[in-house]
Amino acid sequence: MTTTTTFATRLAEVRARIARACELAGRDPATVTLVGVSKTQPPEAVREAVASGLLDLGENRAQDVVEQAEAASAAGLAPRWHFIGHLQRNKVRDVLPLTYALHSLDSVRLIEEIEQRWEARRDAGPLPCYLEVNVAGEEQKSGVAPSEVPALLAAATKSPALLVQGLMTVAPHTGDAEQVRPVFRALRELAEAHGLTGLSMGMTEDYPVAIEEGATVVRVGRAIFGERRG
Ligand SMILES: *Cc1c(COP(=O)(O)O)cnc(C)c1O
Repeated sequence: MTTTTTFATRLAEVRARIARACELAGRDPATVTLVGVSKTQPPEAVREAVASGLLDLGENRAQDVVEQAEAASAAGLAPRWHFIGHLQRNKVRDVLPLTYALHSLDSVRLIEEIEQRWEARRDAGPLPCYLEVNVAGEEQKSGVAPSEVPALLAAATKSPALLVQGLMTVAPHTGDAEQVRPVFRALRELAEAHGLTGLSMGMTEDYPVAIEEGATVVRVGRAIFGERRG
């Protein structure tokens, strides 16, 4: 059996699930920003997203965000690009001018690089950023350990190039969202302990649970765009 689910149907379903999760948690849906993760998707998918009112889009690789942003702007579109993957320092120069928010700040050296490249976007004001935390201590994941948050936060806070929004995490891949609830809760508690309100957490498999635990930004790819291409 094959059914063609349209982009609009999937997006509506995700928005409905966000609304339901907010209702469960007694939250206003306006406090949750949906970032559509367009990685591996063709430029037409970005056009469709923007046409559907999905203006916050995420990419995790420098070259991809540059290409997507160029294609979008050639088509007269101006989505807000969220950079959500590990950012190498030698890519800061390319990504900085076109990034709306950085979700993956993970080292003091990256902060220093952003400061050096700052002229490229000075007019746009400081770069909104989230500190990426590897809450579950997974070996292959980027992000700092919870114990490293104070030092990174101090450096980011005093940088004129950055505007700290909060914390971000990528939960372990378990296939069971309930299992990752404690990870989201731990990120929220860590943010609260540092007086931060922004929480970028929750992906296709677990965004409703992330919202119940306080997510202010969810980064959803496959549930909106379908399976990844290429
Ligand atoms: C790919 C990606 C997402 C979206 O993943 P889905 O499972 O497709 O929703 C979210 N956050 C980050 C950091 C990603 O790399």
